[in-house]
Amino acid sequence: MDLKHWLGRATDAIQDWADTFGPYQPHPSIEVDNDRFAAAFEELTGRLKDNYPFFHPRYAGQMLKPPHPAAVVGHLAAMLINPNNHALDGGPATAAMEREAVARLAEMFGYDTHLGHLTTSGTIANLEALFVARELHPDRGIAYSADAHYTHGRMCHVLGMKGHPVLTDDRGRMDLGALEDLLRAGEVGTVVLTTGTTGLGAVDPVHEAQPLAERHGVRVHVDAAYGGFFTLLAGLEGAEGLPPEPWRAIARCDSVVVDPHKHGLQPYGCGAVLFRDPEVGRFYLHDSPYTYFTSTELHLGEISLECSRAGASAAALWLTFQLLPPTPDGLGRVLAAGRRAALSWAELIDTSDVLELYQQPELDIVSYFPVVAPATLTGIDTASARILADGMTSPDPVFLSTLKAGSEAFTARHSKITADADGARILRSVLMKPESEHHVERLHARVEEIARR
Ligand SMILES: *Cc1c(COP(=O)(O)O)cnc(C)c1O
Repeated sequence: MDLKHWLGRATDAIQDWADTFGPYQPHPSIEVDNDRFAAAFEELTGRLKDNYPFFHPRYAGQMLKPPHPAAVVGHLAAMLINPNNHALDGGPATAAMEREAVARLAEMFGYDTHLGHLTTSGTIANLEALFVARELHPDRGIAYSADAHYTHGRMCHVLGMKGHPVLTDDRGRMDLGALEDLLRAGEVGTVVLTTGTTGLGAVDPVHEAQPLAERHGVRVHVDAAYGGFFTLLAGLEGAEGLPPEPWRAIARCDSVVVDPHKHGLQPYGCGAVLFRDPEVGRFYLHDSPYTYFTSTELHLGEISLECSRAGASAAALWLTFQLLPPTPDGLGRVLAAGRRAALSWAELIDTSDVLELYQQPELDIVSYFPVVAPATLTGIDTASARILADGMTSPDPVFLSTLKAGSEAFTARHSKITADADGARILRSVLMKPESEHHVERLHARVEEIARR
């Protein structure tokens, strides 16, 4: 699709609609002179060059990429009206789109009933899930793996709950023995399982942890902010297929969070939280003196902690789902390409004499480190940092990211490394663009070249 064409069509379509209300005078206070605008615009686009090329396959660093053109057009079209999905009166069309898009997410996770909505981010979505968890188990804390997203600890602090980090195994997944010991002590009311940790893409064994939690009368929340859409690859044939058990088990968990602004091709400002039991809506009850008058139906603002939220985010996600639905044949193909890229890069690293895999990728994150002699954590740390910096500043650049691996986690995976420090930075590449699939050999050759220097 031609982005420029459709951006023009979007502004025309909204203008045509606006014109049906008749002419009016724009106020001089907001009028800007064309030349002054041109100068400011020049400065803006100039300053925006101070960015990394997230769109390009030579960018193989953090979880960043531009949205799909359909999301851009959907976002722009709705944003010209600027509906607020807090209340139906703030934007009936985008509120309906939000409901439809969220229903598709619920279906993707196998929820037969749900209450859910979009949020500004995964952090806020998780906060809502933990808030409901606290209302249900006010005297008990939250367990999450030591490799869970750092915001779980922070949000426990915000909510005044005790957080219990649980040990991880040598693949970065929650250790079930450690979880069971903790559950037996009776201080935990909710377990957070992560399907796709942000650092390594490790998938907690939801199918084993959920029954364990149930036996102890403990809720289960799944943080699938990064990994959620990988459920589309569960049980598929071929290299990209994932073991289905943890993904299917999400349907039996109490709540789940997924970030369409990570793997759903959306611009930032789009997370989602879904509860399996719609009854939890009662915890959100509040009186708003301003906003509700048109409907006795539950407004989105009545089931979320946030107030104003961009209707444009819902429009963008809805339009994207019309074209690339959250199905194995739709968005699934995008994720499959990234996963194949990660697997083939891991294979190349396996045969390298200058790079070594930190661990086998589970989703689309490749973790690796430079081979150094003597093989010490300080040596690896220095070399990783050097490769990261040289990669970015080279005339034929490659953009990676680093991840701090603790010494115990490191030696659990690589027993021959001398632990002369409390940890080391390793290299990490999130291959979330499908284009990466056809760029792996060049990426690998380039990183090897830099590592050899
Ligand atoms: C990114 C991420 C979050 C936080 O989401 P934001 O949208 O960045 O606020 C939480 N959990 C996991 C597993 C994530 O990857």
